[in-house]
Amino acid sequence: MTATRIDGKAFAARLRERVGARALEFAEATGRKPGLAVVLVGENAASEVYVRAKGKACVAANMESFEHRLPADTSAQDLLALVERLNADPAVDGILVQLPLPEHLDEQAIIAAISPDKDVDGFHVINAGRLSVGQEGFVPCTPMGCMMLLTDRLGDLSGLDAVVIGRSNIVGKPMAQLLLDANATVTIAHSRTKDLAAVVRRADIVVAAVGRPQMIGKDWLKEGATVIDVGINRLPPEPGADKGRLVGDVAFDEASEVAGAITPVPGGVGPMTIAVLLRNTLVAAYRNAGLDMPEGL
Ligand code: NAD
Repeated sequence: MTATRIDGKAFAARLRERVGARALEFAEATGRKPGLAVVLVGENAASEVYVRAKGKACVAANMESFEHRLPADTSAQDLLALVERLNADPAVDGILVQLPLPEHLDEQAIIAAISPDKDVDGFHVINAGRLSVGQEGFVPCTPMGCMMLLTDRLGDLSGLDAVVIGRSNIVGKPMAQLLLDANATVTIAHSRTKDLAAVVRRADIVVAAVGRPQMIGKDWLKEGATVIDVGINRLPPEPGADKGRLVGDVAFDEASEVAGAITPVPGGVGPMTIAVLLRNTLVAAYRNAGLDMPEGL
């Protein structure tokens, strides 16, 4: 079998287009654009890239982007004061504090200060709680993007065996919760799981969120499985190159011989994350304005 390549980039582009169209309607109805505030503390090169990309994506989707760049030695008090101001600002629908924060700042305390109704990253404990009891809230962008790709590919997930590898609060745990809500039979595997290959081989759906380059080979997969590769890993550079290639947690080429469908890295899950962030910001705007949510998001 040769796996179908799940094109997350194209799916994300279509989602961004829908969000952009709905954002225009929102602006017509309310006289203002949906707004996302992104807070960056310090000078982390990867974070700089993400923040710039989020700002550009916002503007392209007819939303307002508010960027707040603070020096690395910003005190917790000053950061909390900014979060409070953004919580109270009616032009701001979503607030995202880019992680990781410098070491002297307590990430959990800062996230806890964001209004749960503006927590478009879905990292606040209130939103984690809402997800776990099935209430409406905000779901972290990466697992929600994975879920969209899965339901687009498979339709009804009822009764399917799903294995999520990784148990982080931002990917693995919410991913497992979403699969459970979709009536899959879910196993969460992690660094202490015994005979991981045998666990993964049972799965109709594999979501890999580990951060180990090409760890999952074809021998780990059941014939026809749907494989969602969240991992982003950079290989050491080839001789003469200054940067190594980006790869996922799955050995794409050999896994494609066995899987039914698989996301590539790059171009799979990655582009979905920002698209869902825009979607969540639009949803926040509709909720904050007390308007009915548009269909098809
Ligand atoms: P994390 O480090 O918080 O969690 C990794 C998880 O993998 C842990 O729960 C750990 O138990 C598990 N693990 C570690 N070694 C293992 C092993 N040998 N066998 C089985 N499980 C093992 O990472 P994270 O934030 O959840 O991210 C995971 C990966 O996804 C990273 O590569 C990250 O860069 C990527 N990521 C991508 C996106 C995206 O937009 N595509 C978003 C977030 C994270």
